[in-house]
This record gives sequence, C-alpha cells and structure tokens, in this order.
Amino acid sequence: MTQIIPRKNPRTDYRAPIHHALLNTQQFRPTLTYDYSLDGMCYVTDQPLDIESEVCIVMDNYLPGKEGLEGYRSYLARTRWIKRLSINGADQYAAGAQIVARSHEVLATEAQLPRRRCDLCDTWQPAHRIEAVGQGVELCRLCTLRFNKIPSVRVRQCLERYLLGNVI
Ligand SMILES: [Zn+2]
Repeated sequence: MTQIIPRKNPRTDYRAPIHHALLNTQQFRPTLTYDYSLDGMCYVTDQPLDIESEVCIVMDNYLPGKEGLEGYRSYLARTRWIKRLSINGADQYAAGAQIVARSHEVLATEAQLPRRRCDLCDTWQPAHRIEAVGQGVELCRLCTLRFNKIPSVRVRQCLERYLLGNVI
C-alpha cells in the first residue's frame, strides 16, 4: 500500500494543528502535520486513506500574512502515499498529500471598530461590512471577494461547511 513518490521540493518539519476531512464528507478530524513543502504536506491520520483520495485540510492556526502552511485557511489536497504507523498499539497513518488548491491568498485587513467577527479571517469589523455568504457564513468584504474568487466549487463548499460547523 505504501507508495514512495520522489519529492521535487525540500521539506520543512512543522507540527501544526489541522482538521481534515475527506471531500464531500463533513467529518473533520483534528490532527497534526509532520512537515510541508512547496506543493505538499505530510500529516497524521487515523484513516487508511485511499491513494488519490481528495482531502480538505483546514489550518487551525491560520494566520493571515504569515508565510508557510498557516498563511492559508484551507487546502484541497490529493493523497499521494499513505504509510501505516503503530503508535501505542493503535493504528495511525502518515499521509503524503499534494496540494491541489489553496483557499485564498494572504489577507491584509486592517483593524476597524469591532462589531462583528468575520468567520473566515477572525477579524472584528463594523457590522455593515460583514456579509452573509452561502448558507449563512458571515464574511468581511475582503474575505467575501476572496471566497468568491476560489476557483474550485468543491473547496468553497468544503470551507463553508467547516465554517458553519464552527459557528453553530
Ligand atoms: Zn474576513
């Protein structure tokens, strides 16, 4: 089942909290990354993911303006390899994922008088600058623009589901 794919880019060791879910499911599971490169990342999962399966990965430590994985809110990634790990007798897996799409570019919003919080970038904005998108996710104008520019409908839906799950 293990498949080694030669890497084009050097990897950076990096433990970051993430949530991940198979595309078209709503079961986001918390886990950690191992490392990342320019076009991929490795993370721990308790699911024996199929090769080529598509996974939505959301950064818990999303930080607009930061370089690295946390500079983006979420990723659509394709599973390229999976390796079984045995940790304390429980089966876990290391998954190698190729990044297919990023949620949006780095944000650069400035703080305004706080009224309501944007579900995506977590900044507080005057209420009139917050808009409801899709099924009731509330976004600032910049995030609304970014959100609507995400080319992949699947990434938009994935992100929307995740944000709604956090709101309720
Ligand atoms: Zn925002």
